[in-house]
Amino acid sequence: MTASDDDLGRVDCGPSQPKLASFPKGRKNRCYRAIWYESFRWLEYSVKQDRKFCFACRNFSTSTSKSDIAFMKTGWNAWAKAMETNRGLRKHDACSDHLLSMTRWESHASQREQEAAGIRNMLDPDRPSVVSNNREYTKMLLQYYQYFCSEETAYRGHNETTESQNAGKWKEFINLMLRTNPLFKRYHDKMKQRYRTYDYTSKRSSNELVKSMAFEVRRTIKNRSTRQACIQC
Ligand SMILES: [Zn+2]
Repeated sequence: MTASDDDLGRVDCGPSQPKLASFPKGRKNRCYRAIWYESFRWLEYSVKQDRKFCFACRNFSTSTSKSDIAFMKTGWNAWAKAMETNRGLRKHDACSDHLLSMTRWESHASQREQEAAGIRNMLDPDRPSVVSNNREYTKMLLQYYQYFCSEETAYRGHNETTESQNAGKWKEFINLMLRTNPLFKRYHDKMKQRYRTYDYTSKRSSNELVKSMAFEVRRTIKNRSTRQACIQC
């Protein structure tokens, strides 16, 4: 890393994605836009250089990689072309060498996560069974959320407290499951035992989990179409 790119992300920290109140204006008053991070998780921006880079290609490409050097080393600032079809960010996102860099990044991150999990397990011997319980519980919850979303019906109540006469379809359903589904109740109780009040059924959890499911659906569709239309840089 040189002095000019020391504000970019390091291998184990992920991309540097600053969200400035305003980015410097270039030709035709165009500038970098932080909203692009939402579509391209590999994207990073150097404030010092006012240029964007690809975190994956910069850190995980090989010496034989044919990935665009502007995304790897020199930086790119043709803002007007950034989101054009088959150019700029979209073209780089579909480039085969970039996809290889992404695979190497994911594999590196997964290895680091496994190492971190190993350390956490040593510090907390109960952790593997807690993780397994939470995973099974969340899987069931996601299926329930998926069902209510696919029904396209309002399922949250205005007043979901225990004093409410009608806490809404969701709370009533969860209470029914707790009374009639012993497996769900077991997972739920173990989670409550460990985290006290937290059980992922609140409105906030509901929004976050539904948002995550929507993200996964979009990502699957995008990966499928990228594989079909993979083009060389
Ligand atoms: Zn790349």
